[in-house]
Amino acid sequence: MLNVEELFGSKVFTLGKMKEYLPKSVFKEVKQVIDCGGELSFAAADVVAKAMKDWAVQNGATHYTHWFQPLTGITAEKHDAFVTHPNADGKMLMEFSGKELIKGEPDASSFPSGGLRATFEARGYTAWDITSPAFLKEDATGVILCIPTAFCSYKGEALDKKTPLLRSMEAINEQAFRIVKLFGNTEAKKVVASVGPEQEYFLVDKTKYLQRPDLIFSGRTLFGAAAPKGQELEDHYFGTIRERVGAFMKDLNEELWKLGVSAKTQHNEVAPAQHELAPIYETANVAVDHNQLIMETMKKVAGRHSLACLLHEKPFAGVNGSGKHNNWSLGTDNGYNLLDPGETPNENIQFLLVVACIMKAVDTHADLLRQSASDVGNDHRLGANEAPPAIISIFLGEQLEDVVTQLVATGEATSCKYGEKLRTGVSTLPDFIKDATDRNRTSPFAFTGNKFEFRMVGSADSIASPNTTLNAIVAEAFCEAADVLEKAEDFDLAVHDLIKEYMTKHQRIIFNGNGYSDEWVLEAERRGLPNIASMIEAVDTLTTEKAVTLFEKFKIFTKPELESREEVLYETYVKTINIEALTMIDMASKSILPVVIKYTKSLADTVLAVQGAGCDASVQKELLTVVSDKLTAAKAALDQLIKVTAEASSIEETKKMAFFYKDTVRPVMESLRTPVDELEMIVDKDIWPMPTYADLMFEV
Ligand code: ADP
Ligand code: MG
Repeated sequence: MLNVEELFGSKVFTLGKMKEYLPKSVFKEVKQVIDCGGELSFAAADVVAKAMKDWAVQNGATHYTHWFQPLTGITAEKHDAFVTHPNADGKMLMEFSGKELIKGEPDASSFPSGGLRATFEARGYTAWDITSPAFLKEDATGVILCIPTAFCSYKGEALDKKTPLLRSMEAINEQAFRIVKLFGNTEAKKVVASVGPEQEYFLVDKTKYLQRPDLIFSGRTLFGAAAPKGQELEDHYFGTIRERVGAFMKDLNEELWKLGVSAKTQHNEVAPAQHELAPIYETANVAVDHNQLIMETMKKVAGRHSLACLLHEKPFAGVNGSGKHNNWSLGTDNGYNLLDPGETPNENIQFLLVVACIMKAVDTHADLLRQSASDVGNDHRLGANEAPPAIISIFLGEQLEDVVTQLVATGEATSCKYGEKLRTGVSTLPDFIKDATDRNRTSPFAFTGNKFEFRMVGSADSIASPNTTLNAIVAEAFCEAADVLEKAEDFDLAVHDLIKEYMTKHQRIIFNGNGYSDEWVLEAERRGLPNIASMIEAVDTLTTEKAVTLFEKFKIFTKPELESREEVLYETYVKTINIEALTMIDMASKSILPVVIKYTKSLADTVLAVQGAGCDASVQKELLTVVSDKLTAAKAALDQLIKVTAEASSIEETKKMAFFYKDTVRPVMESLRTPVDELEMIVDKDIWPMPTYADLMFEV
């Protein structure tokens, strides 16, 4: 029988194991650095490295790696064996030093750097993130000790997703700490951002997957007519999990539990073949690491079940794509959640100030938040009636919105919806109880009781950027509030005024209606809220004066770092769409058109044969005409696609090139797809060169 309690964390060098393996004094030092920051002494690092290696080797490890998260959005690793020089007797001892634990020097020249690297050496550094535990990865390579690290250039510039995230966690800690102190929490030592990401994914049969170059090269289908059935019966969401998928989920959970990932919830999602996994929330950087492990493990375990896991935001046209609901909250180390309305008026007031600050942050930096959730695949989802629109707004729920409305109108909120009894508190603010109102699935940023749920994030993307941005923008709002409140003579009055001021000024960001509706798009425009339609249109929000001021003030990004990220984003877009275009050209030229041409020949032969036999061949003839017409259209679009793709490569500036791909190449890709999908509906299925949507989505 499976003992989950024993299994959980068995491949992680947890705090518990450190306690067991380390001398007391060294453990104390490690704990101090984890809790309060700072650096481990070299002496202690050596002891930790040895203990870590001993534990790893006892568990079969032969290698270690500094595991990091470059700007590719996935993880990177280079394995080094614990092997050392043999001694004179030819005997070798497995070793691992403190220096090797703390710092690595991978060559950075083959990772995206957005120009940062050109001016510096190729050398990059990885530095141990002591707050995220080391773990063992086990696969065909053997057992590898993975040390979570941050990755930066020779001059300390961030080349990864982790470094800015860690910096943003320090910023939010510092600023939120000022707020909780003002409200009398003297016991707390720090404030931590917590994240629980819900991960959506598709599973398809591996053999069929391998017959689709589009899935292999671009992660999504670039051709494909709709199956007769989609998601219209609403029978897949929360439906009974099929045996083969169930076996996958069981295996996946076990692998994740071993890695200390608290996989908690699993269910079928809206689209056929779509599923979801949600872990229990944890500290932001660990949640980011674990989300990467979840995605990686999903792919690995799928392979064992002869399945392929599709993490792309839009693998199939016509049915829902996949996202990642990023649940985010702030808590003190002594157990208070800043997003919990609390039991007493005092807590309520702190809560309302926090909400006011978040309203201010999200309204002021709606563009940055939108940017943080954009990637190439997500362009297919946002605003497409299956995911939030590209417009950022906040859903507070009826009850909380009513409080905001009263506060804005009169400066007081003396009643609470649903006849909740109000206790008269220290000011005119109500004793507010946990939101009990309905959910709003269409909102990109929704308050859900004691956390905000950022629903825009794409399924394939790292969640580092959204959380870095959230931490940064809220830190700024807290900082500005604390600057005022720390100087206030009458604290209660000052808080009251500040809440009213922020809520009044930023009320426009609240929207409780249907975010999928066309009316909202118009209403948002009237309110002056940004509506940034695509990923590349969002890129330059990173270097507006407002953004640079924010990120530099809290030491999260320097201006060159932001500029380098812009460059990487444009490059990523260009490369991704180029691969998609080349894949379409490849598939159309080598498989689809040849098959259709053969089909026209067999139709023509049939027409002649049938006519020769003295019978009516009008049906065959009509079909031949239709197929030939669509073939002509497809060939013309193919030629055009070849032409514009070549044209794109001659553009020098990356940003211009990105826009060319979006505005010129992508429409041609669509014009090739249309006749091909129509042909798929006519041509004999026995000769169609690849599995169809029905084969992929309904036959797992
Ligand atoms: P839903 O009702 O949206 O499914 P759940 O309560 O199941 O919400 O939680 C969804 C995700 O939110 C889970 O990963 C969960 O751990 C996470 N979550 C719950 N509370 C918090 C919190 N305070 N901060 C961050 N994430 C949270
Ligand atoms: Mg949820």
